[in-house]
Amino acid sequence: MKDYYKILGVSRNATDEEIKKAYRRLALKYHPDRNPGDKEAEERFKEINEAYSCLSDPKKRAQYDQFGTADAFAGAGAGFGGFSTSFGDIFEDIFSDFFGAFTGQRRRPRPERGADLRYDLSITLEEAVRGTEKEIKVPRWVSCETCGGTGAKPGHGPVSCPNCHGTGQIRFQQGFFSVAKTCGRCGGTGHIITSPCSKCKGSGRIRRYRNVKVRVPAGVDTGTRLRMSGEGELGQNGGPPGDLYIYIDVKPHKFFKREGTDLYCDVPVTFPQAALGAEIEVPTMDGPEKIRIPAGTPSGKEFRLKGKGVPRINSHHRGDQIVRIYIDVPKKLTPRQKELLQEFAEISGNEVQKSLFEKVKDFFAHNG
Ligand SMILES: [Zn+2]
Ligand SMILES: [Zn+2]
Repeated sequence: MKDYYKILGVSRNATDEEIKKAYRRLALKYHPDRNPGDKEAEERFKEINEAYSCLSDPKKRAQYDQFGTADAFAGAGAGFGGFSTSFGDIFEDIFSDFFGAFTGQRRRPRPERGADLRYDLSITLEEAVRGTEKEIKVPRWVSCETCGGTGAKPGHGPVSCPNCHGTGQIRFQQGFFSVAKTCGRCGGTGHIITSPCSKCKGSGRIRRYRNVKVRVPAGVDTGTRLRMSGEGELGQNGGPPGDLYIYIDVKPHKFFKREGTDLYCDVPVTFPQAALGAEIEVPTMDGPEKIRIPAGTPSGKEFRLKGKGVPRINSHHRGDQIVRIYIDVPKKLTPRQKELLQEFAEISGNEVQKSLFEKVKDFFAHNG
């Protein structure tokens, strides 16, 4: 009776991983392709495979451990050709690097994630404050319908690459090993196109515009980036699509200036309004709003309208609107207005000037 554990050089309580490792090492060492014409190596290789085909199968291994025989199950002792099923699996797993070229198997193309896309979206300040929904047209590469993505003119399907005979790989000998290299002519696909599809010019894909609905949340600002998962370029070979990134640009507003979540605006009042106090109407994002300015309001005075600014994204907080008052000096006066102002000036004297010179005099006195 053969001791399969001894053949693989592992202990009786070796783990599956240890058995696989031992097998891998020995199989590579005694593989007929690396020992051409060596009868002894061939015998060892058969033994190793027999042992592995038994010990790698939990059911067979248990039976072997219990009854100490491999004959209880059919096929296991049949030699090299007998365990083709299990060997086939292992073969692909272990030898694909070395022997992929022999079997003519092309490596499966790896799934690739699609590229991310960028879209610059310009919106107004009002839209940024309230949030909006926009439909945008996004280009993306899709498989060409005319040729079904092959890139070949219909009826002139791709032909087998003459360079690599359709395997996608060029093999050459390097010492013991036959090394496979991706074929440069066909790029590893194994086929080439002789008459390219006129629609996609042989690339197999075309640019297609599609409508994408973008929900822009309230509070976005220039530079805000919105990510739309899976709306980018399509993946290849079953890979997932990329993402679409929307870069927000908020257009300048003719009345409001934004600073973070606050909005600033300059509101003109007349001199009498500033001097006597008045109720004035100012525009806000929510419509006109009345504010009361007290008597004696100087130019540059700021009034804060709580919660009339820009919302913070995904929060209940909303900034303020800051109203800056400036006194509008009329450029044209009617004779009546002029008359009244002159009278006003006469009774006021030049108190402002006087108080200024008082200050300057003090200044000269201290420094002279
Ligand atoms: Zn095409
Ligand atoms: Zn080729």
